[in-house]
Amino acid sequence: MATKTFSIDIKEFCEVQKEVIKDMIATFGNPPTLAVIQVGDDEASNRYIKHKRSDCEEVGITFEWYHFDNTITTEQLIQEITDLLPYVDAMLVQMPLPQHIDATAVKMALDPSKDVDGFHPLSHFDPCTPLGIIQYCQMNGYDFSGKNVVIFGRSDIVGKPLARMLTDLDATVTLCHSKTRNEWNHIPNADLIVSAVGQAGFLNCYSIHIPVIDAGINFDENGKLVGDCYNTENREVTPVPGGVGLLTRLALLQNVCTARYTELLAEVAKIDAEMECGGCEAICDCNQ
Ligand code: NDP
Repeated sequence: MATKTFSIDIKEFCEVQKEVIKDMIATFGNPPTLAVIQVGDDEASNRYIKHKRSDCEEVGITFEWYHFDNTITTEQLIQEITDLLPYVDAMLVQMPLPQHIDATAVKMALDPSKDVDGFHPLSHFDPCTPLGIIQYCQMNGYDFSGKNVVIFGRSDIVGKPLARMLTDLDATVTLCHSKTRNEWNHIPNADLIVSAVGQAGFLNCYSIHIPVIDAGINFDENGKLVGDCYNTENREVTPVPGGVGLLTRLALLQNVCTARYTELLAEVAKIDAEMECGGCEAICDCNQ
């Protein structure tokens, strides 16, 4: 195979970045706190939460897990979230929620400055999977400007935000979905492909000679964890496991740190403002 576009090993990259995060957290004084909300016992969610917990513990983020059983109502869940928000730096609601819960209402209940999964429309954060993918590509020196990127899958947490973020980076994005006609016709004109469909055996890479980011997480008929791509031998395709999943987990840690850091900056700005005005309501009426 010719020289790789993305030559940095993803596992090593994540390990190095975690050390950077660990050092940053050590400067914070109090460690940041991430609250993870889970409803029910979805098996995949249990696994993702276990990973998040161990990542957080590794870098020094305080991990708090709030588990509710399936009988909780949307209103009760929103109340729990509202009560908890003042006490944590960051929060995420593990998806999927059970069918009877209004997921949109729950997302709207999040504080945009603490919504590290980027679910709230006004969230201060980019969703972790697109963020992780973009950061990794850029760390390899990849310039998205002018590139044609074909994305398969248009979900609110992967395809759509990735398309928006890449457009902002001056890429030209083709976003394919289940209703796209002749979707393979877009491949010959592409510089980069991202597959986020969630179907084992979706993308045959045999005749694809450009880099492919495989975001799929699926299980094959033998219960083995696989991505969306097959025929990947001698092709430049990110591995599954050990690929986008790790980048997503890393991006979450970064977002939690950013949430804490932003909060610290706001606290400093408040102190500065108080000092500027004399910090005393008794001698001035600035109302700060
Ligand atoms: P969704 O099920 O929400 O979305 C799947 C998307 O694929 C939909 O937009 C659907 O189109 C589209 N699709 C279905 N068939 C086709 C087709 N033939 N061609 C093009 N698009 C098609 O999935 P998610 O985005 O939540 O997840 C996608 C995959 O990524 C899953 O395997 C998931 O596990 C994985 N994932 C991995 C993460 C990680 O950390 N690595 C994080 C998040 C997700 P339509 O909208 O028309 O239905």
